[in-house]
Amino acid sequence: MLLTILGGCGAWPGAGQACSGYLVEHDGFRLLVDPGYATVPRLLERITADQVDAVFISHGHPDHCADLNPLLRARTLRDDPPAPLPVYSLPGALDAVLALDRPGMLTDAYVLHEFTAGGSLDIGPFHARTRLLPHSVPNAGIRLTAGERVLAYTGDTCPSPDVVDLARGADLLLAEATYADRVPEDSRRHLSSARQVGRQAKEAGARHLLLTHLQPGTDATAAQAAAEAEYDGETGIATSGLTIDLS
Ligand SMILES: [Zn+2]
Repeated sequence: MLLTILGGCGAWPGAGQACSGYLVEHDGFRLLVDPGYATVPRLLERITADQVDAVFISHGHPDHCADLNPLLRARTLRDDPPAPLPVYSLPGALDAVLALDRPGMLTDAYVLHEFTAGGSLDIGPFHARTRLLPHSVPNAGIRLTAGERVLAYTGDTCPSPDVVDLARGADLLLAEATYADRVPEDSRRHLSSARQVGRQAKEAGARHLLLTHLQPGTDATAAQAAAEAEYDGETGIATSGLTIDLS
């Protein structure tokens, strides 16, 4: 399983950066997870729009799904459009982004598979287990298994036993860490710090930890140090262009 980070900014894209966007590849299948703001230009530096085989979206905040629109445009506004793109999301999560263009313009570009969090999905060679994790809108964390490797991804969430469950023994936990050490009072039930994420990675026994969704202004060095204070495994920061081979 190969993970490529397209972007790792939380909330909005910093200068020259992109928001959440992760390309996960196995056996030639390309799954795009969370096409957030500005991720499509990074994606198109690596593959063409028609080479994406499926999209999984954790929740409907635009920093996780806004670039679904340019991806669908790139696939459909051409003479030889590819087959409709399978898109997996929670019910209603994509209503806003799918309504950006005039009605019907993108209808043939995708097939929407709305799922209920808590169940399992098979997406190409990936087996996916999902959990509803606490955020300000419904958010599905995911545990992706392929070729005996496991990648767990939180979307956006405050700490939860369900994060630990999804990440149990995972080869890599890709975890939202909007803040380094202290989560502002009004976000404590929605978002996490790197320190909290380090604790959860330790509890889960995850082999590696990658911090993502750092809000612009969050000090990456401080975030990594906060996570490492709680967690002994290898810890990194998700930055555009980073590729990790989990095999
Ligand atoms: Zn969010």
